[in-house]
Amino acid sequence: MSLTISNNQLTALAANFGTPLYVYNADKITDQYQLLQHAFKGVNAKFFFACKSLTNINILKHIRSLGCNIDCSSINEAKLAVLAGFNPSNILYTSNGIAFEEIEEAVGLGINVNIDSLSNLEKFGKKYGHGYPVGIRLLPNIMAGGNLKISTGHDKSKFGIPLEQLDSILNLVKQYQINIAGLHVHTGSEIKDVAVFMQVADIFFELVPLFPELVFLDLGGGFKVPYKENETGTDIALLAEKVQAALIRLNEQYGRNFQVWFEPGKYLVSESGSFITTVNVIKKNKAAIFVGVNSGFNHLIRPMFYDAYHKIDNISNPEGPIQHYAVVGNICETDTFAWDRPLNEVREGDLLVFNNAGAYGFEMGSNYNSRFLPAQVMLKEGQVHLIRKRDVFEDLLRNQINID
Ligand code: PLP
Repeated sequence: MSLTISNNQLTALAANFGTPLYVYNADKITDQYQLLQHAFKGVNAKFFFACKSLTNINILKHIRSLGCNIDCSSINEAKLAVLAGFNPSNILYTSNGIAFEEIEEAVGLGINVNIDSLSNLEKFGKKYGHGYPVGIRLLPNIMAGGNLKISTGHDKSKFGIPLEQLDSILNLVKQYQINIAGLHVHTGSEIKDVAVFMQVADIFFELVPLFPELVFLDLGGGFKVPYKENETGTDIALLAEKVQAALIRLNEQYGRNFQVWFEPGKYLVSESGSFITTVNVIKKNKAAIFVGVNSGFNHLIRPMFYDAYHKIDNISNPEGPIQHYAVVGNICETDTFAWDRPLNEVREGDLLVFNNAGAYGFEMGSNYNSRFLPAQVMLKEGQVHLIRKRDVFEDLLRNQINID
């Protein structure tokens, strides 16, 4: 099992499959899952991979083979999970702002559902009464996460039912005898501070007596992974220790045996992914030396979307003298991957690799500017697998209807 992909390997993959190219190391995903398992051994914890971060069916099957569960953000993701072989009881659908029909479909699939509005909770109660256990997503009014765009638990966020509306939740539960099996809070992404998770646990602590049929307490995803050199991620061992202590207290106090659920996305797949691009053009102006690669925010939107940082390596000239560059994409908009970034001297034709590109990279890709989505390759136990072909011209027209 190899946890890193060497520059030689990346160069060979670029030569074989062309660029831009996403490469995923399945062994690294395995390792991340095992780290979680190890840290939480002895804790009644279940992990659901937040597959919004990466849905290629081969990745999903690999994650299933590890014994991990899956968290979905749309009914189509849930259907992909079924297709990948997940048992319905291991699939969770954490919905937000969806039509009630999607919840009905989810119930039809027999999967776990978290509801995030009073309106859908009421429809759910009317239709299913006590017949189908369900979770509720709460808005805890906690500001957490890497930046505002990836913070989802603060008081201006659209997610979840605000805690201030607890009375309304309880009225609906009583009126329709709804079987509340779980409480869910996802405060955001890239949460380094373990205390944030424990703040949510404290909230759950107070709510537990109000929901006598509770089975699980879902603390969501959001574990931070290091994107920059010298950065550290969430201290998973410390988190496990604190969660274990809280669970023991909770179980003792209420004479119950609660499960704690987590929905890691980035933690499982971010570091497994590398995105290889080729330098098309180098040009200078008064502000910068621009390195124009054969990609753009249509393939990796995180830097433009929420100022995300991806470490970039020039694997074609790893010993070259360091210079500062603006690394830009070829989309006809402002399209900056990195500004004033120290890199080994870059020449046209060099391969630039974006690290930590496994989560929310390909997944947020588009055909903007009528460009092709890249191919995806998975490395697993020494084998190379092409898991998605690069688009071809016909793909751009696939669903268009030519009315002439
Ligand atoms: N769960 C929910 C409900 C989410 O919205 C997200 C991502 O935004 C996640 C889990 C996964 O977050 P992360 O990839 O930061 O672990």
